[in-house]
Amino acid sequence: MTSAPAAHAMTQEKPVASVPGQHPAANPPPATSSDTPPKVEVQDLNVYFRRNHAIRHVSLKVQPRTVMAVIGPSGCGKSTFVRALNRMHDLVPGARVEGKVYVDGKDLYSKTVDPVLLRRRVGMVFQRPNPFPTMSIYENVAAGLTLNGIGGNHDEIVEHCLRQAALWDEVKDRLKHAGTSLSGGQQQRLCIARALAVEPEVLLCDEPASALDPIATAKIEELIHELKEKYTIIIVTHSMQQAARVSDNTAFFYLGELIEIGPTAQIFTNPRERRTEDYVTGKFG
Ligand code: ADP
Repeated sequence: MTSAPAAHAMTQEKPVASVPGQHPAANPPPATSSDTPPKVEVQDLNVYFRRNHAIRHVSLKVQPRTVMAVIGPSGCGKSTFVRALNRMHDLVPGARVEGKVYVDGKDLYSKTVDPVLLRRRVGMVFQRPNPFPTMSIYENVAAGLTLNGIGGNHDEIVEHCLRQAALWDEVKDRLKHAGTSLSGGQQQRLCIARALAVEPEVLLCDEPASALDPIATAKIEELIHELKEKYTIIIVTHSMQQAARVSDNTAFFYLGELIEIGPTAQIFTNPRERRTEDYVTGKFG
C-alpha cells in the first residue's frame, strides 16, 4: 500500500518508512499481551474550548510499560489530548471535557478524584524545560516531595531520581547550584527527575525535546527508552523520526480526531488510513 515516501517537506527529515532510526530494542514485541488490562484507557473523549471542538470522540488504550507517540500536524489537538489525561484543562476558562479517561480502571474525571493526587500518578514534562527558577538542583527534584508532604529520605530519593533521569553524574557535585544554571538538555532531564520524584505511573511528555539540540535530544530519547521499563509513557512529537525511534505504538491525530493507532512500524510502513499515509509520506504537514 505504501510506496517509499518522499522526503518530508514539512519536517525536513528523512522518510521513516523503514523505521531506520528506531532504537534497536524499541520495536515490539510489546511488554504486555493484549489481554493485559490497559494502563490508560480513553473512551469517547471530547474537549471543547468554548465553541472549538478540539478533540473529537477519541478512544484508545495504552498498555503498561509501553511508549505511545502522538503525532499529527500542528493544531490537530496533540497537546490538548495529553493535557486531558491529567486534567490540566480543569482551570482553563471555557474548556470543557467530556468522556472517560481511566488509569488502572479508575476514571480520572470522577468527582471523587483529587486532581492534585492524580497529577502525582500522571506526571507531565513540558516542551520547554521549566525548573523552578529560585530553587537549587536538589530543591527542584525534592519540590514535589515537599509540596505533597511525602516523607522518607529525601537525599536518597533525589539521588535515585537524578540517576533515573541520567543526570546524577553531571550534577552530583553541584546540587546546591540553581536549576537554571544547567544547560537546556540538563534542565529537561532535571524536570523529568522532578516528575519522577513523586513516583508517577504514567509520564506525559509534550514535545520534550523540541527545544533541545540533537545531542540533548538523543539523551532524552535514550532516557524515555529506559524509563519505559517502569513507566507508561505518552509522548507528543512533531518529529516522525523521533516517534519511530522511541515508541512502540503511534497515534495519528488530524483535526482533533484520532485517525489511526497501531504499532509504530505499521503506522509508518503500512498505515490503514489514507490520511495517515499522506501525513507520514509528507504529502501534508
Ligand atoms: P497541537 O498540540 O496538535 O499543535 P493543540 O492541542 O495545541 O494542537 O490545539 C488544538 C486546538 O485547540 C487548536 O485549535 C487550538 O487553538 C485549541 N486550543 C488549545 N489550547 C487552547 C486553550 N487553552 N484555549 C483555547 N483554545 C485552545
